[in-house]
Formats: sequence, structure tokens, C-alpha cells
Amino acid sequence: MKKLLIVSALATAMGGVWAADYTTDVVVIGSGGAGLSAAVTLHDAGKKVIVLEKMAMVGGNTLRAEGGFNAAETAQQKRDGIPDTIEQFIADTMKGGHNINDPELVRTLCTNAKDALAWLVSLGGDFETVGRAGGAKYNRAHRPHDGSAVGPEVIRTLWTATKDRKIDVRTNARVTDIVTGKDGAVSGVKFTSKDGKTYTIDSKAVVVAAGGFGANQEMLVKYKPMLKGYATTNHPGATGDGIVLAEKIGAATVDMDQIQAHPTATPEGVLISESVRGDGAILVNAEGKRFTNELLTRDVVSANELKQPGKFAWIIWDDGIRAKAKLIQGYIKMGLAVTGKDVKELAAATNLPADALEATLKQYAADQKSGKDSQFGRPDMPSALDKAPYWAVKVQPAVHHTMGGLKINTKAQVLNKEGKAIPGLFAAGEVTGGVHGGNRLGGNAQADIVTFGRIAGQSAAAYVK
Ligand code: ADP
Repeated sequence: MKKLLIVSALATAMGGVWAADYTTDVVVIGSGGAGLSAAVTLHDAGKKVIVLEKMAMVGGNTLRAEGGFNAAETAQQKRDGIPDTIEQFIADTMKGGHNINDPELVRTLCTNAKDALAWLVSLGGDFETVGRAGGAKYNRAHRPHDGSAVGPEVIRTLWTATKDRKIDVRTNARVTDIVTGKDGAVSGVKFTSKDGKTYTIDSKAVVVAAGGFGANQEMLVKYKPMLKGYATTNHPGATGDGIVLAEKIGAATVDMDQIQAHPTATPEGVLISESVRGDGAILVNAEGKRFTNELLTRDVVSANELKQPGKFAWIIWDDGIRAKAKLIQGYIKMGLAVTGKDVKELAAATNLPADALEATLKQYAADQKSGKDSQFGRPDMPSALDKAPYWAVKVQPAVHHTMGGLKINTKAQVLNKEGKAIPGLFAAGEVTGGVHGGNRLGGNAQADIVTFGRIAGQSAAAYVK
């Protein structure tokens, strides 16, 4: 007893050098969809968990996700008679990723996404509407019944579950180091708090769920110089810390130069979701002409846009599309869109040539009615765009998703450069690489973060026993 007291007194005197400030089974770095999925899973497996979040609020980039949660063979699809299959989901994801994705990770994602979605529903989430995202053969992007954004619903669901379980979540807590023991196994983390002090946590495992690096200009340009000066759709916390922290203890990375631009961001980087095109909106260039099948993958639509005069486009929707989607009503409320009570007025508001714009919309309506896009072969045209008034937003490509990151296996273990798992280190979500290959399909980020967040939680729970 006396000995223990002396050790503890010494540790206190040394400012936490010997004894950690806190002890837990698992530390989760980051409170986006991946981190909270891991934390809830760990808690439900009977483990003690502390979540550290460097920003003042939880939710990360996930809160900004608008489109949907991709999953195949779901109850919602069956209800709607959508003949989707897991194999088709795999094929679309591989093709969309230019076939450089890790096939095992893709199979894991596509096989388990429906259970991840059902899990969210079991926690009270609303993912009742199934819509189309780019690069998907069938409707598989699940979102709330009123067509509102998916990310806030994912976070609302997970955050409610986190609070119900009284999981220890600390905001304004930036992890600066992942600590390893002599045997190379992870033994905890160091973090700085709002008070400017550094604290240590002893843990048996760490789940890195710190997101991507889409808001870190220096890192973006390092891996892809052409992105210099690009706007970003990412929240300011997406600075790639998780990748750097894990690299410091020997983690390998993959596909770091695979960085996705989203084709429909405002010049300030506000994202106009892919689901708006999925719902029927079209893109026109400065000449008032369409220039692409709007449902192609993000990389291709972005590239087509950059070939247009001025390297921008206008995304246009009508009142029929507006009425169905709360998300679009939100853009209008935010003042992002200009409007016209007819095509002529819209042309004046956008400074597009009225005759050309009228001809474009007339042609599109005729094509929609005949069921065949005579110009660009768009496979799905849910709206004839013939219900005034009209709205338009000026858009351009902006950095959206960093596909590369930490190399993991199907158990979400982080691998070192020899391909061996680093004991006690797990990762999930945008901080990892390999799942999306050279291009992430819309709707696959939410599927990725919840599916692999759960796997990381399960694997870490099994590891700490
Ligand atoms: P994902 O979609 O993979 O869950 P998100 O971007 O939604 O990723 O969430 C990642 C979270 O990790 C963000 O809230 C971000 O602020 C947080 N984060 C990033 N770096 C650190 C760090 N060094 N310490 C603690 N939290 C971090």
C-alpha cells in the first residue's frame, strides 16, 4: 500500500509522465460518423471508451453529407421493388473507383452496408427514401423520408445513441500523439485540451476516425499539385491529422493522390448535393447548353465542367423538383439560388442567352417525354423541367473527398509497411484508403463510415477482450 502511494505521489509530481491522466479500454479519435459508430459499438460490446474530438462540436464532415447512404438488398429497396443486388453494388463501386479499389474492402463494404443501415434504423434513424446517385445502376441512396440531407440524420441518430449510453466524449480535445509500448503495440494517446494543457490516456487500443484532409491545402497540393487554389466543401477540421499520427508509428498509406473534386459546389465551397441531379436537375454551361450526362461519376462530370467556357456551370431545377425535396428548399432559403418565373427571367437572372436556354429546356423536355436523352444518354430523367418557376445555382468543382489514407484490412486493422497489423491500432472512414479507389461514388461515404466504423469497434472490442 505504502509503495503504491509513493508511486502515485511521484507520478503526480512528474505531471503525468508516469501515470496517465485517464485510463480506458479504447480511445476513438474523431466524432464523425465513423468515430461515433465505433464508439457505440464498443460500448455495446461492454468496453470503456473515450471519444476525443478536436473541434468544439461533434459530427465532422459527416454533418455536411447531403446525398444518401448506399446499400443494396435493403428492406426499403424491396418495398420499392428495386431489383438491386450486392454484386451490382460491388461492380458499380469498383467501376466508379476505376478498379483500383481494394476488392476485399469493397466486398466488405457492399456486403455489410445493409446491416449498417438497418442498425442505424434500429437506433431510430430515418432512411426511408431511396434515390439515385451517380454511377449507380439502381436507386440505392437511402435518405430521410422528406428528402432532407443524410449526414445530419446519421449524426443525429448516432449522437442520440452516444448520449443515451453516456459515452465519454470530449470536444476541444486534439490528439497529438498515438503512444506505443516497447512491444510496438498501441498503449494510449496524448491530447491537448482547451486549457492548452496536454493530457495522456492509457488505453489498450485506439480507433483512428479522424476523417480526411480535404481542408488541408498544403497536404492536398503535396499529393496533387493541380489542386492549388481549389475551394473545398470540407469542414475546417479535415486536416489529415489521423493519417499523420498513424504514419508516425509506422502505418502505411495508400492512394494518397486520389482526391475527388465534386462538380457542383458554389464558388465559396457550399455543396449542391448530387441528389439534386438525381432528382432531375440539369447542368448548362455559360452558353445555356447542356454538356454532359449529369449522372456520370463526379470525376467525369467535374472534368467535363472544366472544359466549358469559364470552367463553371449552372445547375437548374424547376418547381416540381423543388416541391419534392426539403434539401433543395433549404438551398433556396439559404439564398444560394437565383430564380425566374419563366425561362426568360431565369436567363436574365443567370446572364445566360435566353434563346439557347429555352432551346435546351425544350429539347430536354421532349427527350424526357420520349424516355431517351438524345444528346448525352442520361439514363434517368425523373423530371421534364417544365414547371415554372425555375431556380439555378452557379457551380464549379471543389475538393470534396480524399480517397487515399491509412491502409487497413477487412477487420479495420491498420497495416504497417510490411503489411502486418499494428497491434491495437484500428481505423475507419475517410482517414482510410482503398475502399473507394480512384473515385468515390455519391452515397458510398456514409456506407463506408458506418460499416467500417462498426467493424473497427467490433475488432477493437475483440482485441481488448
Ligand atoms: P468520417 O466521415 O470518416 O467519420 P468526419 O470528418 O465526419 O470523418 O469526422 C472526423 C472527425 O475527426 C472530425 O470531427 C474532426 O474534427 C476530428 N479530428 C480530426 N483530427 C483530430 C484530432 N487530431 N484529434 C481529435 N479529433 C480530430
